[in-house]
Order: sequence, then structure tokens, then C-alpha cells
Amino acid sequence: MHKASHPDHHRWISHTANTRGCVRPVRLTGSLHTVDTTTGEILGTRHTATDMPDGVLYVPCGDRRASVCPPCAETYRADTYQLIRSGLVGGKGVPESVAGHPAVFATFTAPSFGPVHTRVVNTKTGKVRPCRIRRDARPCPHGKLLTCTQRHTDNASCLGRPICLDCYDHAAHVVWNAWAGELWRRTMIRLGRDLRPYEHAHGIRLRVSYGKVAEYQRRGVVHFHALIRLDTRPNTDPKRGPLQDPDAILPPPEDITPVDLAELVAGAASTTAFRTPDYLDTGHSWPITWGPQIDIRPVAGLADGEITSEAVAAYLAKYATKATEPTGLPTTGRMTAEAAEHYSDARTHLGRLVAYAFQLGTPPEDLVPLGATDDERDQLRRDWHDTWGRLRRWTHMLGFGGHFATKSRRYSTTHRELRAARRIWRRTTQQQWQRDQGHDVDDTTLVVADLTLAGIGWNSTADAQLAASAAARAREYRALVKQERTTTSA
Ligand SMILES: [Zn+2]
Ligand SMILES: [Zn+2]
Ligand SMILES: [Zn+2]
Repeated sequence: MHKASHPDHHRWISHTANTRGCVRPVRLTGSLHTVDTTTGEILGTRHTATDMPDGVLYVPCGDRRASVCPPCAETYRADTYQLIRSGLVGGKGVPESVAGHPAVFATFTAPSFGPVHTRVVNTKTGKVRPCRIRRDARPCPHGKLLTCTQRHTDNASCLGRPICLDCYDHAAHVVWNAWAGELWRRTMIRLGRDLRPYEHAHGIRLRVSYGKVAEYQRRGVVHFHALIRLDTRPNTDPKRGPLQDPDAILPPPEDITPVDLAELVAGAASTTAFRTPDYLDTGHSWPITWGPQIDIRPVAGLADGEITSEAVAAYLAKYATKATEPTGLPTTGRMTAEAAEHYSDARTHLGRLVAYAFQLGTPPEDLVPLGATDDERDQLRRDWHDTWGRLRRWTHMLGFGGHFATKSRRYSTTHRELRAARRIWRRTTQQQWQRDQGHDVDDTTLVVADLTLAGIGWNSTADAQLAASAAARAREYRALVKQERTTTSA
């Protein structure tokens, strides 16, 4: 029976409204106690089984990936936007003076692991250039000319695929993905060092704050888009001068311009390089560096300039909801040996990446030599887990095991704080509504939950559709209210 015809229809809709159309909500069962915060007394208890529609409490899954749950990914995108934006223009607990700090928007890409099909557009004429032209091209060791005269369309399936599969270094590719996060960390340390002359000149200490998002290029390698902002560190050393609030976000000296910062970032990116540890006893290690195509642009304030803070925040937020989709790899969880075998394919680019990641990350049987002590065995296993083991754990991500959206501690607010703020907002608007209706609202009570997981997903397709259409109506309504507000305030 469809719920729309059920007398409890409205009750069910309002009960599930907080899932905001989540396609696979978490179902919880148990009790909710209303507690008096002054005395600790339990004023009342509701049990999901007896007091709630379907006998459960629905909570949104909160997945960031649009391929998994579009409505939850949309919430995540909106939060990421707020998070990045507040770090640029202030708000959400960040002072508005950050808008005056020098900031750059930078894209860090991987080096080449072999020629791939690309679409290059001439920025002056807007015309698509031929993919890869080499005048005196000789065949590669595999008998292929590494050229391609086609002008590829934007959605051509060959984009990002190697021109010669055997010339492409798939091992180096997945190893780079696995160490990309470490490369970023070292680049930021380097940038901090390169700022020292400015610190000495001004007798202060500087701090680099950033928000960054990882994105998969079509060839299956991650690259990072980052907003990098310069702050002055608050003084916490009484010998250096008056003490400042350690949480303050202070502007750097005015003679450091966004262009200076862009040059410093470019310098740090081009000089940061290291090698991985040796792979077992082969003596082989891989160099880890950024590719030559690093794009760094000063970010203009809200008033004018090439990139606005809004555009940058929107751009970064969009990528935060994507995983490996651009590479063609399905969104999966960790791969079992069977899954890795299923996706491994020597005839395809993606199949080779999966195979190399899984194989390089699988420890050899003689990793622990005979006669090793327990301590030695534990140490060897731990070392493997922290280095090459990552490639196996993150095979479904082609080796990259980092977070998709990260920020330095002082950059801005966090996703967790935004979620908490939304809950408080919802609670206070509910209380306000109850007041408006003439109900008594007591701010001194607190709801304490004692819940356990009952399952994931809606009970039926009909329920899922109903929740989705209710959420769509709620979104339309919110958009309408917002529109009215902007037109009345204009
Ligand atoms: Zn969801
Ligand atoms: Zn091509
Ligand atoms: Zn070749």
C-alpha cells in the first residue's frame, strides 16, 4: 500500500524530512530521553519502536560522493563552499579581515608517466589543436608512432589513455598517487621555510593556511586544487613582545603581495622532490615530484580581478563530491583480491593501474624472514602497512589514500562545525515555530539518544520515492523563500 493514502502520511513525511532526500538513510532503533539539564532528571522517553513511524529514526547517510547519494553530496558540496569561502572573505567564525590577506589559487598536477591522448585548446583562437604532433617521430620499442593528429572532442573516450600502453609507466603512476599527500605536506613545509627572510625582516612569524581538494584527472592520477592564504602567526612568546590570542587570524605585512606569494608557491612546488623508500630488495625507488604544469594565480578580492573568491569556492566545492568517476573506475569500497583480479586487465589502461596498485601493495610471502623475533615481525608488518601496503588498501582509488577535501587547522571552520550549526539552527527554528504556535518551549531540556543501527536504506522503493519528492518540494520552497528575500532586500 502506498503511504500517500495512509492517514499517517503527513506524520511520516515530517518524520523523514531531516534526511533531505538521502537515498540510503541510516535506520536507528532505541530510545530518546528528554533530560532536564539542571537536575539531570529524565522527563520523558520515546521509543522508536512504539512512538515513531516505521519504528525507526532516519538519519542521512552523509556520503560526499554524488555517485553514491546525490542529496547528501549536495549538502557536502554546499558545506565545502561555505568552508572555502569563509577562509577567503570571512564569516562562520573567521574575521572579515582575511579578505585582505594575500591568497593564491593553485593547481598542482602530477608529472608525465608516458604520452596520453589530450585535448588542447588554443587559448587565443579557441580552436582545438591536434592531439600530439611530432615531426620526425620514430616508432617506439613496441612499434608505435607516438603521435596522434586527431582533434579530440571533449567527451572522446580515448582522452587520458596512453598512446602506447607499453610505453606508459603504470607502476610509477600508482606509486605517485600513493605519495601525493606526502609531496603536498613537504611542499607546504618548504613554503614555510622560504618565508623566513620575510619573517626576519619584520620580526614576526608567518603561517600558510590552505583549503585543498583532490581531483582525478582522466588519466587516473590525482591532482590538487588549493587555496593558499598567508597569515601572521599570533605571538605566544612573551620575549618577542605583547602576547596575542593564539586562535587569532592576523594579516601579514602589507609589502607581501599576492604576486609574491604566487612566486613563493611556484618556487616551493618546483624544488620539492624526494624518492620513495626502496621497493623490497630490488633496490628500486621512484622519484616523487610535481609535474611542470603548475597553475598558480593570485586571488582577487570580491571587488574585481580574474578569479573571485566566490568562483574559487564554487569550483573547489564541485570537485569535493567526485571520486574516481572521471577515470571510468566504478565507485567501490576496498577491493578484495577477487575484485582486484576482476578489474585487472593488461589490455586496458585502467586495468593495468588496478593490477599494479594491488600487486605492488601485496606483501611477499617472505616479508618476515624465518627466525625473526616477534618485535622484528611486528616492525616489518607496520613498515609495510605505512608504505607499500597503502597501494593495496587504496587500489579502488588507484593508490591515492588521502582525503578529498582537507584544510590546514586555521584556514576556516570545519564540516563538523557546519553540521552542528545546522542541527542547532534546526532545533532553534523548531522551537521558534513552537513558540509561534503558542507552545511552551523549555531551553533547559536536552535529548539524549540511546540508539543502535537497525539497517541502511528505505524499507521500500515507494518510501524512497516519497521521501525524495518531499525533499524536492522542501528544496523548491527554500529556494522560493530565498528568492523572495533577495528581491525584497534589493
Ligand atoms: Zn545520503
Ligand atoms: Zn589523440
Ligand atoms: Zn611503446
